[in-house]
Amino acid sequence: MTVHFPFDNSYAALPENFFARVAPTPVAAPRLIKLNRPLAERLGLDPDWLDSPEGTEILAGARLPEGAASIAMAYAGHQFGQFVPQLGDGRAILLGEVIDQDGVRRDIQLKGSGRTPFSRMGDGRAALGPVLREYIVSEAMAALGIPTTRSLAAVLTGERVVRDQIQPGAVLTRVASSHIRVGTFQFFAARGDREAVRALADHVIARHYPEAAQADAPYLALLEGVIARQADLIARWMMIGFIHGVMNTDNCSIAGETIDYGPCAFMDTFDPKTVFSSIDHMGRYAFGNQPPIALWNLTRLAECLVPLLSADEDKGVEIAQTVLGGFAERFNATYLAGLAAKLGLFTTQADDAQLSQDFLAAMAKGRADFTLTFRRLSDAAIDPTELGTVRALFDDPAAFDDWAPRWRQRVTAEPQDGAARQAAMRAVNPAYIPRNHRVEAAIRAAVDKDDFGPFHELLTVLTNPFREQPEFDRYADPPQPHERVLETFCGT
Ligand code: AMP
Ligand code: MG
Ligand code: MG
Repeated sequence: MTVHFPFDNSYAALPENFFARVAPTPVAAPRLIKLNRPLAERLGLDPDWLDSPEGTEILAGARLPEGAASIAMAYAGHQFGQFVPQLGDGRAILLGEVIDQDGVRRDIQLKGSGRTPFSRMGDGRAALGPVLREYIVSEAMAALGIPTTRSLAAVLTGERVVRDQIQPGAVLTRVASSHIRVGTFQFFAARGDREAVRALADHVIARHYPEAAQADAPYLALLEGVIARQADLIARWMMIGFIHGVMNTDNCSIAGETIDYGPCAFMDTFDPKTVFSSIDHMGRYAFGNQPPIALWNLTRLAECLVPLLSADEDKGVEIAQTVLGGFAERFNATYLAGLAAKLGLFTTQADDAQLSQDFLAAMAKGRADFTLTFRRLSDAAIDPTELGTVRALFDDPAAFDDWAPRWRQRVTAEPQDGAARQAAMRAVNPAYIPRNHRVEAAIRAAVDKDDFGPFHELLTVLTNPFREQPEFDRYADPPQPHERVLETFCGT
């Protein structure tokens, strides 16, 4: 018999209280929407077979592949600041882990595959709209070079799910370095199960932070590692205008990947207060709040690890506080270096941070489009008259007019020529992001008209976000006033 999934399952070997053994619930009529063939190959899977009726049944949860672990993971989490001691995979099933072609262990998980012991009031299913949103945005993030879970496939189940609107049901196959979250640690810490916290920490060190095993204090090194990866990740989000929308601790990945594409969206007009999520009334997860929220989440992780940091609790708390203090420095270093690169600076000078902050302030004041402004500025690196094109993106260009000559002076003092600067800037300032109105249009066509054309086309464009694609120029444009989508909804 052919082994279609070369599983090498490690999480399922952890103690039984880490998960529930449960099979996906079969569905009526699986139909493949999209298979990510390059990703399948990287995972050592055969795309042609996944594309076959048998493969599609597996991607829909209608049959289990040989060797699957088939578990729902237990976790807890703070949702909008409120602790919920039991969440867990309420509609996801981990099929198992494979080692990819880079030697990295990857989880393969079905999302929307039916009820589990963690479903609470939920139906265990996913609606087509949110599945397409996750597919598009996660793959766009990967193409932008940002650590993220991936989408291997989307299938229709042939069943209906009842949400605000009745929608076709769908299943997403999600691939992740792991699905271990801050909330996974919280699940055991909240139960006072120190041995489980330790076993989880050991698993995470072996899997994601092997260098920590060599450190004098491995658990401290683990905490430092998670803090560093999260600081870098959030800095990357801030550099491209990504708003996660639901940064609960159960959506905070220990491996440092972006996870849970529910109400996420990219910002068009630059405004740090931007919120899209319909349920984020207080703006807790607004664009500009993401760094302090990440630190808040990491503080919850540190609390779980305190008993592992020292036998003396006060000492453990003190150690944790010291490491958490390093978040800001790490975040700022990554963020400011990223902004400097976006401005095309090859060298470092003392007032570069001021230059980038002033640019952002000018964009906020002038209500400029975040993505397009940086992209057009790349062109001004080679041709200063293009500064007029950048200027035209500002409703109120007064602050930009003050700033532009400072930037010209700063970059022309460097030896690199305009062409080199433009190329470097284009490599970090995308032309194409998953703009909300485009994502919504793709979803509407699929949900309302069973037309997946816009979804496929959008994915094609977003696969090469940094390259000019003249035939798809319109995808670079911000929405017209009547096209603006101001609200996104949780992916339930
Ligand atoms: P999220 O807001 O996506 O992070 O999900 C929070 C929790 O709700 C997780 O435990 C999910 O597994 C669970 N959940 C979300 N939607 C459903 C659903 N339709 N059925 C069962 N559980 C769900
Ligand atoms: Mg979640
Ligand atoms: Mg979600």
